Amino acid sequence: MQSPTFYRRGMFCILPPHILHEIAKRGTQAQRDLALDTLASDHPIRFGRATYQLMATGAHKLVAPAPATVEAHITIYDAHHRTRLPGSVVSNPTISNDPEVKEAFAGLLATFNLYWEVFKRNSIDDHGMPLIGSVHYSRHYDNAFFNGQQMVFGDGDGQIFQRFTIAIDIMGHELTHGVTGDTANLTYQGQSGALNESISDVFGAMVKQYSASNSRPWSYCPIRRWRRGNRLADLTLIWL
Ligand SMILES: [Zn+2]
Repeated sequence: MQSPTFYRRGMFCILPPHILHEIAKRGTQAQRDLALDTLASDHPIRFGRATYQLMATGAHKLVAPAPATVEAHITIYDAHHRTRLPGSVVSNPTISNDPEVKEAFAGLLATFNLYWEVFKRNSIDDHGMPLIGSVHYSRHYDNAFFNGQQMVFGDGDGQIFQRFTIAIDIMGHELTHGVTGDTANLTYQGQSGALNESISDVFGAMVKQYSASNSRPWSYCPIRRWRRGNRLADLTLIWL
């Protein structure tokens, strides 16, 4: 049985295990194999020792005044289809030819910008925590997760799931788990776990909306923008 600490500070995946279980039961043979591979990869991370932990709750930091200006510290790594993190650093990610690199950088920056420009929060911990993302994690990995230290993105199986960097709201959702852990520190089970997920959904949608609002007013909000991960797969993920 996991300790309460694990529930509060464990790994947060965008795809919960029950969806992968369903694919493993109902998919084609290839889809089943890839779903099972992802589940096998997730298991030691999800249930193993909580090596990656969020920083301690940030209530003691509330007395610090917000700085006038801040700078995002974002680094993108390429895991080269291995599971060793973070991988090798990618220089100049904004001009990379690799769409996953560019998307990961853009998503982390968009999340940083929403939190700073709208809520005056300086990164996840409000103290300028560097934002790290590793792309090309494992092979055909059907998930993305925040492990308390960094974001990790799989390429997807190419059948049901696209690359997991394709949906900017996923990054907002996952990194918000870090903010929640740093502030409310909600236990990740039962009703508080559902509240934890709901907060991430809302902020993920806000990241998506805010990043699209450069040329449109903030109030411009078609309902499709509130569907989470709708570019990721052939299924609507608002129920995740
Ligand atoms: Zn979540």
